[in-house]
Amino acid sequence: MIIVLKINISQEQKEHVIQLLEEHGLKAVVSHGVERTIVGVIGSEENVLKAKPHVEALEGVESVVRILKPFKLVSREFKKEDTVVDVRGVKIGARRVVAIAGPCSVENKKMMFEIADEVKKGGATILRGGAYKPRTSPYAFQGLGRHGLEILAEARERTGMPVCTEIMDTRDIEAFEEFADILQVGARNVQNFNLLKEVGKSKKPVLLKRGMMTTITEYLMAAEYILSNGNPNVILCERGIRTFEDMTRNTLDLSAIPLIKSLSHLPIISDPSHGTGKRDLIPPMAKASVACGADGLILEVHNCPEKALSDGAQSLYPSMFVKLMEELKPVAHAVGREI
Ligand code: PEP
Ligand code: MN
Repeated sequence: MIIVLKINISQEQKEHVIQLLEEHGLKAVVSHGVERTIVGVIGSEENVLKAKPHVEALEGVESVVRILKPFKLVSREFKKEDTVVDVRGVKIGARRVVAIAGPCSVENKKMMFEIADEVKKGGATILRGGAYKPRTSPYAFQGLGRHGLEILAEARERTGMPVCTEIMDTRDIEAFEEFADILQVGARNVQNFNLLKEVGKSKKPVLLKRGMMTTITEYLMAAEYILSNGNPNVILCERGIRTFEDMTRNTLDLSAIPLIKSLSHLPIISDPSHGTGKRDLIPPMAKASVACGADGLILEVHNCPEKALSDGAQSLYPSMFVKLMEELKPVAHAVGREI
């Protein structure tokens, strides 16, 4: 349920609304839009239905609308304007399409610094790199752990770029609070509800990747977990889903981008690296992503992909990244954006 407040509502009347909701065991999330202030109501269906007639009778309330979709706080009904997530001054969801780039895994300081310098030159504004890696095989490189986070923080000092890195375990939250700028929740953890609740309590922006088998409703419900725990700064990411097709690593579901934009106010970026698994498919799919409205791209780049400890086959050479960023300019302009 959402409550639309009258423009001239007094502070006292507003407090009455919130108090009444709390008396019914409900939580209020206030959103100050450009035109109006809206209160999102969260709680059980039963309590919402009980509270509704009482809320409608309160002074200062213009209307009460039930949201029939299961996702509430992430929905366009709750917030009409696009959410812009600010990551240390880099805005995701605004006119400029943001490029997040870097290696799949942080392997050592030298390679991290080299790649960071290259992607910065090419126009990336956020650096990526995994320190804790979700690998299919327990025998594969698992990431440098905390040391990887420290290297990322040094790369941020060196380049000025904020860093985006994946968190897999609630027990690591303190280290991520200290070193990371964006907490990435990977495809495999999209429905790890304890992790979603934990990053929901954080003040850091969260990059929530779509799972390889999540429907759009399930995906938006995962984002709802984060918002309902108090963190409004969620960036969505289409990274490909599993289909019958086995020539690509995943099937990049580009139609999800405009569809999610119509359903939600949250920014959404595209990951053609994991979406295709093949280096040569990344430039065309990156362009298609920008053309269909993606607010950003997350791209794997490696200075020596043949020797990469993970995802070498889908890592761009730095020169390919630089070329792609140039080629993306006219595409962005064609859809009223910049890169
Ligand atoms: C990654 O970004 O390196 C990663 C593991 O991505 P995903 O969770 O989309 O597979
Ligand atoms: Mn990867």
